[in-house]
Amino acid sequence: MKRQLCWCFMLLFALGCAKRTRKMLIESPLSDVFDHRLLKTLGVNEQVLPEIVFDEHLKLFVSQFIKAAKDNGRDISQETQDRLREIKYVDALSIGPAPGVMAVCNRYFAMQETLLGGPKKIHWMVIEVLKSTLDTYTTDDPKKAQILLREVIFHELFHCFMAKGHLPDSTPGIMNAFFVKGDTRAVKEWDQLVTEMFSDKEMALCPDTSG
Ligand SMILES: [Zn+2]
Repeated sequence: MKRQLCWCFMLLFALGCAKRTRKMLIESPLSDVFDHRLLKTLGVNEQVLPEIVFDEHLKLFVSQFIKAAKDNGRDISQETQDRLREIKYVDALSIGPAPGVMAVCNRYFAMQETLLGGPKKIHWMVIEVLKSTLDTYTTDDPKKAQILLREVIFHELFHCFMAKGHLPDSTPGIMNAFFVKGDTRAVKEWDQLVTEMFSDKEMALCPDTSG
């Protein structure tokens, strides 16, 4: 028998990463900052899960991230993987655009009323990459640009899959809020950076954002 579903309401919260020139915070024009935005209510009455839309290039980083997590003892469940519905370039962010925003991991949930079993909470996630701003962080060198793009996407995937926030400002790493243009650590020490990102120490330093 076909199961009928009734969407009763939808809540949304966005875990965003904003990239701004760091001179907004300190006097350096070559640095960037990511920040969070949390829990927004849109008042949408009906909602359907978005189709899976993975950019052909960006999706490569998803499988790399999942493998890197596993290699570092952090298995990402299939259920969590399946919650990522879209990873794509956009001309404008769908939620709360702010000056300098480079990419976001938007995390959504909805209460789905079922005929049998009562309401059920479902989750999904969308990563948007604002190409125009991304280009101000990466470089004209295609090889280095690729590495820096991977750094940005790993940052977003960590937010999405691990449900974690940022490292303290004083702690360097992929999950630090500051992305410094010209920083070569991602180019020279990528494996070390990734190992540190999944370490017990950095996992404990990044606050939980699940909900
Ligand atoms: Zn971030």
